[in-house]
Amino acid sequence: MSLEEDDLKAQLIKTMVSLHSRGLMTGVGGNASVRIEGSDEVLITPSGLYKPELKPEDIVKIDMEGNVIEGIFKPSMEWYFHTAIYRRRRDVNSVIHTHSPYTTGMALAGKKIEPITLEAAVMLADVPILNFRYPGTKELGEIVGENILGHRAVILQNHGVVAVGYDLIEAITTIEVLEEISKMAFVAHFFGGAKLIPPDQIELIKKLYKI
Ligand SMILES: [Zn+2]
Repeated sequence: MSLEEDDLKAQLIKTMVSLHSRGLMTGVGGNASVRIEGSDEVLITPSGLYKPELKPEDIVKIDMEGNVIEGIFKPSMEWYFHTAIYRRRRDVNSVIHTHSPYTTGMALAGKKIEPITLEAAVMLADVPILNFRYPGTKELGEIVGENILGHRAVILQNHGVVAVGYDLIEAITTIEVLEEISKMAFVAHFFGGAKLIPPDQIELIKKLYKI
């Protein structure tokens, strides 16, 4: 195992600890993976184990068909959508799945993300909400793989969030921003509704950032 793989495993564990400590997932309710850059091999969190207490040797290495290349545990049951994303998006090297309560809760109520902040208006303006599919199935994997094209994240109805990035930092940032926006929208809704960024300002921002 190369030093680079050691680093990736350490980053995966750090990500799980960070997400768990902030209530974005329970100890058994989320998962994450990284593609070993330039290869068709993926390091993924194991199924069933308590994620904040993972050790480097618990991380599983799989190929794009979910076959275990290295590791003693089963890969996360959601390996289907992790590999479905990597097969379709060569620009993605990291996938994170959480059960973020505010983001998932807003979607449960049918609330789309509105342009309440710069990130909401530009980065996450059109996050798809996918109809419920049973977790851990190939069907869910294929639907996530198809719908992630052109997006940083998708929301799984009655379940949680899947975010992607060039690396783990980019993916975790999307999870964080989505939850931040959802909390803001929730508070605003409680007090009578959110003021949105005016459309002409959004156009200006898009021009400024060349989006
Ligand atoms: Zn889940």
